[in-house]
Amino acid sequence: MIRNLKMKKTLYAFDFDHTILKDNSDTEVTKLVDSPLPEAIRNFYDGTNWTQFMNKVFEFLRDQGVTVEDMKELITKMNPTPGMVSLLQEIHHRKSLSDSKLFIISDANDIFINTFLNSINVTADCIITNKASITTRGALHIDPYENSDCPICPKNLCKGSALEEHIKSSSFSVVVYVGDGHNDICPGIKLSDQDFLFARRGYSLEKILNLGKVKGKRKTEINFDIKAQIHFWEDATSILNVVFA
Ligand SMILES: [Mg+2]
Ligand SMILES: [Zn+2]
Repeated sequence: MIRNLKMKKTLYAFDFDHTILKDNSDTEVTKLVDSPLPEAIRNFYDGTNWTQFMNKVFEFLRDQGVTVEDMKELITKMNPTPGMVSLLQEIHHRKSLSDSKLFIISDANDIFINTFLNSINVTADCIITNKASITTRGALHIDPYENSDCPICPKNLCKGSALEEHIKSSSFSVVVYVGDGHNDICPGIKLSDQDFLFARRGYSLEKILNLGKVKGKRKTEINFDIKAQIHFWEDATSILNVVFA
């Protein structure tokens, strides 16, 4: 069943890396230098401390002469997924008519996300992410979000509870959630049968949805049910066609 959302008060929630952007902003900025990451930095990442790892990467990039402006310039040149810019601009232009909101929810950082959104003339009503700043020596620095004791989500950010926290006070008729990764399943589980979950084809979220269970922390496997209407997408035009049909 297709439900037209044109006039419904809708929360549009988007992941950033591999959803709005075709690739990952954090890994892309490391390509601003030719030299590979020093082994000490590579070995620092233990599968759970991505934000702390990225702070070391940003310090290294600064040592190599890369400025925050260089990174912002690169972010504006990154490719979006197909159809994504039109979809976001359409939401940006229509949302005030139905009191709808656009949220970005991401484990990247607010400087990268705002830089990209500005470059496509889209404003988000809320960006739930790690807060970035610039150190006195000019390196980018991220303060971890850290809200998570969720059994599924990485320790830095539970997107499911962050989303719930931010929508508690507003009564949305519908939530449309667009993502690609393992960290998008938790918000997906929390959606109601009025909502939509759009999972990017060929990425982890699609595989997890097909399995019906997800690897949690401490090697647990968690079974889940999704109440929302699920759609798989490659080109965001198909999302546009569902929500604004
Ligand atoms: Mg992602
Ligand atoms: Zn979670």
